[in-house]
Amino acid sequence: MAFKLPDLPYAHDALEPYIDGRTMEIHHGKHHNGYTTKLNAAIEGTDLEGKTIEEILASVSQQSTAVRNNGGGFYNHCLFWEVMEPNGGGEPSERMNIRKAIDRDFGTFDAFKDQFSKAAATRFGSGWAWLVVDGNDKLHVSSTPNQDNPLMDIADVKGTPILGLDVWEHAYYLHYQNRRPDYIKNFFNVINWEVVTKKYNDANEGASSL
Ligand code: MN
Repeated sequence: MAFKLPDLPYAHDALEPYIDGRTMEIHHGKHHNGYTTKLNAAIEGTDLEGKTIEEILASVSQQSTAVRNNGGGFYNHCLFWEVMEPNGGGEPSERMNIRKAIDRDFGTFDAFKDQFSKAAATRFGSGWAWLVVDGNDKLHVSSTPNQDNPLMDIADVKGTPILGLDVWEHAYYLHYQNRRPDYIKNFFNVINWEVVTKKYNDANEGASSL
């Protein structure tokens, strides 16, 4: 079964003024759609057909560059749309497990925010910044080039990504031009912490059932 481009969970312009509608329209309708179409073409007729995207990414070192780039692109953008919402942002509340884990592993929310922002700002060229939970329930901030991600067997920091920020120029250039730091700062106004904490809880359940 072919992978399908998911609908955006909100209108194109719903994240304004932080992320503009035209950027979202092109990013979802052209870029994400392109990764999805090319991933399907790359796996058609191979033994990867019928596997989940997580299974494909876990063995990506044995796959073609097309599978690596477009499989990553498909997965990464699905996660990116999910972890944002209009009127989101702020700090996750103290009652959320993700907040407890952030305080435990980074000391404070601000320390996490600094580390994540730095990972996003210093990624040279195109790539992503991540908040990752590993198999021992520990959180890490990491960054990957291109469309790589922490689910890939080639990643330096492996685990389940629960928050991701796209720092390709296509994600911000129309509105921010070269001002990537402003885009990163404003991302913190649209994070959907309910979704992030759910992803954190789900990853924990998966780990404890191993
Ligand atoms: Mn992108």
